Amino acid sequence: MKFLPTLIAAALVTLTQPASAEEKVLNLYSARHYQTDEALYANFTQQTGIKINRIEGKEDELLERIKNEGANSPADVFLTVDAARLAKAHELGLFAPVTSKTLESRIPAHLRTEDWFSFSTRARVIVYNKGTVKAEDVQSYQDLANPKLKGKLCSRSGAHPYNLSLMASIIAHQGEAKAEELARGMVANFARAPKGGDTDQIKAVSAGECGVAISNTYYVARLMRSSKPEDRKVMEKLGVVWPNQSSTGAHINVSGGGMLKTAPNKDAAVKFLEYLASDAAQRHFADGNNEWPAVESVKVANPALDSLGKFKADKLPVKNLAMYQAKAQIIFDRAGFK
Ligand code: FE
Repeated sequence: MKFLPTLIAAALVTLTQPASAEEKVLNLYSARHYQTDEALYANFTQQTGIKINRIEGKEDELLERIKNEGANSPADVFLTVDAARLAKAHELGLFAPVTSKTLESRIPAHLRTEDWFSFSTRARVIVYNKGTVKAEDVQSYQDLANPKLKGKLCSRSGAHPYNLSLMASIIAHQGEAKAEELARGMVANFARAPKGGDTDQIKAVSAGECGVAISNTYYVARLMRSSKPEDRKVMEKLGVVWPNQSSTGAHINVSGGGMLKTAPNKDAAVKFLEYLASDAAQRHFADGNNEWPAVESVKVANPALDSLGKFKADKLPVKNLAMYQAKAQIIFDRAGFK
């Protein structure tokens, strides 16, 4: 029984030693970079003692990096935006399944999969020039294919995940034939070849270069809340429509993340994902980019988003958005939606 005191002594040393001896860490690969995220991460460290090593990068670059690092990747959690990119990480087999009562009870079923979770939502809305387009003509995504809008539609690329996810939702709801009809109709209505991001489309609509475009809600909110008067002026000429309110609801996309299969710190990874679903973290996470919390009971007061009024959101499972990405790209290609 000589070893017993040694064991107790060892245990005591472990308990009393400062964290630095075996510092708990989480390696976070994040495609999010908002100022408010600092507080979000600091709170986690304060609550758990787990230090966060953060690697930030562009969405596609980070995914590529994790892939290239392979089994040696230090990444524990990957956070990114858009269901398409999260789905890609899943398809590449990068995520590990996570079983968590907390995540299951907090994140609505349609906003999670077995290995990745949404932590905020954004809607894809229609933005139109009040001087040249009537609100009643742009009430649904399908309206954007109406020949009435010939030469009036501006869009970002059909290869962009935001448009791919929107098209994936159309395929899920209406089938491929209807989706292709929509894509072709939109191409026929283009005011110019697709270019730029959502903000560029909003500005082009405001400037009268086109009459209508689609945009994620946070770009709209960002311009509305901007400290630059010229940004707020852009919004004065515009109307914003919640699409498909009498049918499936406005298309919803997400930002979210998951634990990597090769995560060296799996306990910390699950703790962090659960933390992101907490009330305080949800508020930070969503409002930092003018989005909505994924957890339904958490409310954020965002004056810009609130001013757009209540709306019906599409409850299509994010899994289905993922499922139809490849088909969406094929349809855009066939329709010449570059
Ligand atoms: Fe974006």
